[in-house]
Amino acid sequence: MKNSILIPILLCLCQATFAQNSSSLVGQWQAKSSEFGTFYIFDWTIKANQQCTFRATAGSRYTEVQRTWRYAAPHITLLDNGKQAFKGSIEWLSKDQFLLTIIDDGNPQNQGVQRLYIRQQEQVPAKEQGAMPTQISPSGSTCYACYGTGKADCSSCGGAGGYYDRVPYQRYNPTTGYYDTDYRDEWRHCTAMGCDGGKVKCTSCKHRDVPQSATYGPVPAPEGLIGRWKSGGSVYHFQAQVGMEGRHLTIEEGHTKMHGYWVIEDGFLKIRLFLGGDSQWKKYRFGAFDRNNIQLIEEGGYQRLQLQRLKE
Ligand SMILES: [Zn+2]
Ligand SMILES: [Zn+2]
Repeated sequence: MKNSILIPILLCLCQATFAQNSSSLVGQWQAKSSEFGTFYIFDWTIKANQQCTFRATAGSRYTEVQRTWRYAAPHITLLDNGKQAFKGSIEWLSKDQFLLTIIDDGNPQNQGVQRLYIRQQEQVPAKEQGAMPTQISPSGSTCYACYGTGKADCSSCGGAGGYYDRVPYQRYNPTTGYYDTDYRDEWRHCTAMGCDGGKVKCTSCKHRDVPQSATYGPVPAPEGLIGRWKSGGSVYHFQAQVGMEGRHLTIEEGHTKMHGYWVIEDGFLKIRLFLGGDSQWKKYRFGAFDRNNIQLIEEGGYQRLQLQRLKE
């Protein structure tokens, strides 16, 4: 008898403890669940500006939608262009966990389906102080195909941009009454692919080389750059591991992940991504930098990157 009273009281207390408001929902959430024989991962990013992104992944496929959200405990409603697209009820289990019960998501079969959402650890910029380890930049090797110009002689025309073609033509000789053969050299422009006045893109160094070696101010030492950095919506992971052309790099942008190499030489941070085909090195000069912030300025371009170190 005692127990039957105690339990409802405890349940009430628990609910009161974990009663959460709209701002409690803001963050990144994930639920994993098997529904009707398919295993799903649901990623739900709920933003303070009332927008949210909902992604459902099954195997290697996913769908993603953007919605407006409204929360009036215990109900959450998602709107698509002002029209209700989803309604569910939320039961908070802790400030980092809630159980979502689907009331209406447009599919009658899903009514009553429950998903346990767990708050995902967010990556926050690092705050520790400390000096960035620096070095005087080593210089890269000189490319013997382009000497840093990024352009090499076209193998078809040898850098001349074209060639002379000896063309025979017939000329009537009134003395002999016959036709003589004369020759005239005619200039032909080289039509080899990529040839521009005898120069083609250098493939030996993929534009990694720079025209001249110079003395450079201090640049970050590689160990200062190793780790994860955020730039806008991208996460740069400068890895310590050394590969064929430099250290490994991955850049994550939303759900795409790019791979490549990074190296610090000639006073630049050089990055080459495997974008298919013959992708070239990009060079960035270092602007202001410290342990947790780096400003990069693209050489020969307009791109500026502001990198912020992420806490591991
Ligand atoms: Zn050519
Ligand atoms: Zn070259």
